[in-house]
Amino acid sequence: MSSETLSSTTDVKNLVHPYTNLGDHLNKGPMIIDRGEGIYIYDNHGKRYLEGMSGLWCTSLGFSEERLVNAAIAQFKKLPYYHLFNSRSNTPAIELSAKLLEIAPKNLSKILYANSGSEANDAAVKLVWFYHNAIGKPEKKKIISRLRGYHGVTVASGSLTGLPANHLHFDLPIDRILHTDCPSYYHGAESGESEEAFTQRLINNLEQLILKEGPETVGAFIAEPVMGAGGVIVPPEGYFEGVQKVLKKYDILFIVDEVICGFGRTGMMFGCDTFNLQPDIMSVAKALSSSYLPISATMISQAIYDKIAEQSDEVGVFAHGVTYSGHPICAAVALETIKIYQEDNIVAHVQEVAPHFQKRLHALASHPLVGESRGIGLIGAIELTQDKASKKPFDSSVKIEKRVQENVAKHGVLVRGIRNAIALCPPLIITIEQIDELFDSLEKGLDEVL
Ligand code: PLP
Repeated sequence: MSSETLSSTTDVKNLVHPYTNLGDHLNKGPMIIDRGEGIYIYDNHGKRYLEGMSGLWCTSLGFSEERLVNAAIAQFKKLPYYHLFNSRSNTPAIELSAKLLEIAPKNLSKILYANSGSEANDAAVKLVWFYHNAIGKPEKKKIISRLRGYHGVTVASGSLTGLPANHLHFDLPIDRILHTDCPSYYHGAESGESEEAFTQRLINNLEQLILKEGPETVGAFIAEPVMGAGGVIVPPEGYFEGVQKVLKKYDILFIVDEVICGFGRTGMMFGCDTFNLQPDIMSVAKALSSSYLPISATMISQAIYDKIAEQSDEVGVFAHGVTYSGHPICAAVALETIKIYQEDNIVAHVQEVAPHFQKRLHALASHPLVGESRGIGLIGAIELTQDKASKKPFDSSVKIEKRVQENVAKHGVLVRGIRNAIALCPPLIITIEQIDELFDSLEKGLDEVL
């Protein structure tokens, strides 16, 4: 048996793969990725792929950034682990905090670290609850999320996620978590409704939900600036302005989930900058370290921090934190990642190449299989349809997105099929020529399913 066949057999025998059809996996086995170079990865047969999804929307600097490797090695040699419990600290975590706050929305001033986006959002939920207990509003605990929103998979963040597959059979969502509309005009507009009227209807629906539940019971609203895993939904003009007015009116905290949008993806440093959002709490992960090591952060306003800190006399220690919060190697790599963003002016690079990305993306709208193409910065999606006029989606049994994804992979590019859509989220370092390579393969893959 070749070593490749052995690896494949051992994988099928031993692993539970996340977000995988476990039945299919038994028959087909894994695609084993062996190495990376720039924005390309190579499988164990030596086939090269342009990573059009940055892995899981995350490897912003591609797969071979030497500076990140060196930052990890240097920190490994100096201090491979220390924690932040009981007032202990470590220099990379301290320096990373200063750097993150330097670039983050101005009203955020304290940082709690963890390992994943799910944990960061889980912590956000717990902080909302702790805060409202601290200010004497123990009933103000419900959190409103959105259908199609993606916030992770832990019990709380999986409940915030507004996708059926994350709830079905997992007994989620937990109570206290509610869902309001997804701001997709394509999917949600009523017949003849203008985009403006659609947006206003959603804002009214949010207000109605708050009034129905009782504003005194609603503690926070959570949103991604651009929904990612829900199918790349870019909010319509005026949506967040209206949402933020409603939140202010009823004294509801705003949690912004920047796990995908953070660090240049939408053409500004944060989605908050692109859409003029004022978060009370913000979660980041993924591109925080270009995903070379796991690290996430929940950032909070001084006002929230002060109220939580005031509880020290009553509760003693603030009893939240994980073993790897502020892990020094992860923090050192994240710090180096942000330095690269700043020194290489990654935001300016995205602004330079994104118009070409968006031009190629929007050109696909005329393809017979495409109902809509949508995107901003270096993120985008095409929505597949059987009939452009009625926007009728393909039946799930056709697995249209899987077929397109597989065709495009044959042409050396990895994209992601999400329900009836194909998502694109390439590394931020992509060049104009590589953008053409990505779209040329996507077009070929689409034509082949006609
Ligand atoms: N929030 C958003 C917007 C995400 O896209 C994701 C993951 O894709 C998460 C949270 C969860 O992050 P993780 O998979 O690191 O737990």
